[in-house]
Amino acid sequence: CVTIALFTRDLRVHDNPMLAAACSEGAAVVPLFVVDDELIERTAAAPNRMRFLAAALAELDEALRAHGGRLVVRHGDVVDVVDEVAAEAHAESVHIAADVTPYSGRRERRLRERLEARNCLLHTHRSSITAVDRAELSPGTGRDHFAVFTPYYKRWHDVPLRKPLRAPHEVVVPRVHSDPLPDFADSEGSPELRVGGEATGRKLLNRWLSGSIEEYDTRNDELGADATSRLSPYLHFGCLSATEILSRADTAKPGAEAFVRQLAWRDFYHQVLSARPDAGWHDYRQRNVRWRDDPKAVAAWCEGRTGYPVVDAGLRQLRAEGWMPNRARLITASFLVKSLGVDWRVGARHFLHWLVDADVANNQLNWQWVAGTGTDTRPNRVLNPILQAQRHDPEGAYVRRWIPELADVPDDTVHRPWRAPLASSSYPPPLIEVKGM
Ligand code: FAD
Repeated sequence: CVTIALFTRDLRVHDNPMLAAACSEGAAVVPLFVVDDELIERTAAAPNRMRFLAAALAELDEALRAHGGRLVVRHGDVVDVVDEVAAEAHAESVHIAADVTPYSGRRERRLRERLEARNCLLHTHRSSITAVDRAELSPGTGRDHFAVFTPYYKRWHDVPLRKPLRAPHEVVVPRVHSDPLPDFADSEGSPELRVGGEATGRKLLNRWLSGSIEEYDTRNDELGADATSRLSPYLHFGCLSATEILSRADTAKPGAEAFVRQLAWRDFYHQVLSARPDAGWHDYRQRNVRWRDDPKAVAAWCEGRTGYPVVDAGLRQLRAEGWMPNRARLITASFLVKSLGVDWRVGARHFLHWLVDADVANNQLNWQWVAGTGTDTRPNRVLNPILQAQRHDPEGAYVRRWIPELADVPDDTVHRPWRAPLASSSYPPPLIEVKGM
């Protein structure tokens, strides 16, 4: 029989339960990606993710060709397109991976209804986005999800990992029309954006696991060191499987253990969003904060002109690369919500536009964590940008990398340039005063 393997956020051939099931059920498989109108409309405002997606689809097509197949790409509404392809290929079933966003829930319901009408079965495979699924880890006593990370993490550790699957041996694709692969080359975005797909991601992963991961526990917050894995966009688009990464990380070593803990945060936020889909845009915990409306301060923050070098360096890196290390995300986000008093949704929207790895679960719930409306157990924590800079960028390497105006400012004033004997005229004075200036 013929089956359709419908790719969504699982753009890989290795350890892909959805693809493996489709290949084992069907003598022929249509590996399909739908460039969905709704998705395009939303991500048109996110050129970095569009460009990464194009690169990931190109590498997926290459990987399928190496196994005798190819990727079939079609444009349109996902439900209409799958229905059309099912008719054209006489497909008896469609395989898809589960996801946690409200959009994917709607997509699955509509697909199921439409396919039922033509006697075609929809098989939903458990989410391959996270390593541990919400259904595998119940907090018990009437609660539907874990609201605090530490107890979640303790239990998360004990869930047995699924054994990663090999890439399918052979993919036989029936004759069906494919549109050309999208390239989105016209989308404006970050000039220094790094793109790739499964093959590039696997190389990065191999290099990471055999090298810098060892120092992750001690260096991950060093802003100038580029000491984190940079795997987030590959995880976001499913070019890499979280299960496979976990199965390969040697947690007997402290570096790998600290890294695995971060992957648990990712699963944690996905289970929160799955239980509370409204947490994408509504406060997870009501704190009755009165946010300030300050368009000028928001514009300065977005453009990296707050006058606080470490904050501005992060925001400029975000525009230049479409990515920031976690520490810079924490500092810049805290500055917006805690120092400027601006609503977390304003910052989350800016990050969603620029971040190549942005997704509703990780972005919105991390923003809520910083804002104190989320799963944080210390909602009043404020990160002082000067102290943070001195601790995580002691020599100012990060600041100098992203703020050329401060290249010649001496080390002792690089994080407080207003105190430098020859203050740079092109770098703005601080937007506001924070404690410890
Ligand atoms: P590493 O430090 O190498 O960590 C490995 C992986 O663990 C990451 O790739 C990521 O998948 C996961 N991870 C690490 N930290 C976190 C975390 N705090 N929460 C959830 N997962 C984590 N991450 C995203 O993937 N998408 C986002 O949209 C996003 N928005 C964020 C917004 C704010 C305000 C903050 C504070 C954090 C955000 N993060 C987001 C989490 C984190 O900053 C990034 O995952 C990380 O910086 C990616 O770089 P890396 O791959 O080198 O991470």
